[in-house]
Amino acid sequence: MAPPPQNPTAAPVIIIGGGIGGLAAALALSRKGIAAQVLEQSSAFSEIGAGIQLGPNAFQMFDVLGVTEAINHCAVFPDALIMRDGLSGDEVTRISLGAAFRERFRYPYAVIYRADLHRVLLEACRAQSSITLSAQRKVTEIRDEGEYVTVETRDGTTVHGVAAIGADGLWSTARAHLVNDGKPRVSGHIAYRAVLPIASVPQELNWNSVVLWAGPKTHLVQYPLRRGELFNLVAVFHSDRYAEGWDVHADPAELHERFSAARTEVQTLLGKIDVWKMWVLCDREPIKEWSKGRVTLLGDAAHPMLQYLAQGAAMAMEDAVVLADAVDVCAGNFTEAFQKYQGERYLRTARVQLTARFYGDVYHATGATRDLRNELLKGRAREKAYEGVAWLYDGICLSR
Ligand SMILES: Cc1cc2nc3c(=O)[nH]c(=O)nc-3n(C[C@H](O)[C@H](O)[C@H](O)COP(=O)(O)OP(=O)(O)OC[C@H]3O[C@@H](n4cnc5c(N)ncnc54)[C@H](O)[C@@H]3O)c2cc1C
Repeated sequence: MAPPPQNPTAAPVIIIGGGIGGLAAALALSRKGIAAQVLEQSSAFSEIGAGIQLGPNAFQMFDVLGVTEAINHCAVFPDALIMRDGLSGDEVTRISLGAAFRERFRYPYAVIYRADLHRVLLEACRAQSSITLSAQRKVTEIRDEGEYVTVETRDGTTVHGVAAIGADGLWSTARAHLVNDGKPRVSGHIAYRAVLPIASVPQELNWNSVVLWAGPKTHLVQYPLRRGELFNLVAVFHSDRYAEGWDVHADPAELHERFSAARTEVQTLLGKIDVWKMWVLCDREPIKEWSKGRVTLLGDAAHPMLQYLAQGAAMAMEDAVVLADAVDVCAGNFTEAFQKYQGERYLRTARVQLTARFYGDVYHATGATRDLRNELLKGRAREKAYEGVAWLYDGICLSR
């Protein structure tokens, strides 16, 4: 076992998990002059190849993290977010993402290949000498020793840090240590994701927009990726077959059966994919306390949410920036900083967690609920649509 550090305050902040949240946290801390060591369980720092949407609030964070230019290079900027009724094909509503949107929200809306977003953050971390990236380090134990923290990894390594941040996602070990509130809540919703070459998308369905086909207990999201070279599909449906939160065995027969009443456009797109990756979607009830002493949580570890507002990664990056600000403002008093950070993040992230569930109900509405949805959203003025998302897309106030 490694001896305790002689000068604990000179030890790095240990970040558990090298996903989008963990890397953003390392970067945000480094920009405040604070060293970090990221411990990632996988053999390499990488992300799955799927699409991800980035609201203007995510771009506000890219600005702070200094990666906007690199993101712009590989993102696609869609013309609109469009909801269509998955049965009639009618447009239900849209949010235009053009000049008026950028003027209103100060930043754009984009879609990006997850692996590209992760790579941009990783390269920015690698460029900072104050960040150490350690792969194949699955954290098994975290101890707050008062003056410093000790983290044990599965390979028998002991790492000391001045503080620890659990950015280890939905199945967080750090959360089990801090909050100990059992497994995440299985929503009963399943997501199938696939990315295909743009050439295999029929011309008449290849739109430069994020299109959501809202059907009974189902929906399909489509958008282009990587400068328009790729095309992203996310198909979601209700299923009670999966009790656990994770299952690698996708069953395309069930997917096609659930979408059997959908429009031909939807069926055509689903028919383009042979191999899907599957997620059993989970979240948790919001909690108010996710920090204790020198240990805190960030991103999905702190506030896992359903993806219906497309905001999980954005919330993780906001966490990262707010946390680094708090550490800076509290002049390295981590206990105080982590309390300040969770206090600033609790209600915003809780609102996203709870609103995401509601959006899922709206997307999957049937019968009178579907009719009411379509009626209420029909012909909504652009300003009204902007007003509806302003609480989210307006971003956050930064202390400095
Ligand atoms: C279908 C779907 C679509 C989505 N779409 C969007 C979207 O459009 N926009 C958006 O903003 N968000 C979206 N999200 C949400 C987003 O993917 C997550 O919120 C985000 O990835 C959370 O980042 P994170 O860093 O907190 O966790 P993760 O990405 O889960 O990263 C956690 C990291 O920790 C590592 N780890 C885990 N345990 C340990 C351990 N014990 N020791 C060391 N390392 C460990 C993991 O290997 C991983 O690298 C979507 C999610 C899903 C499921």
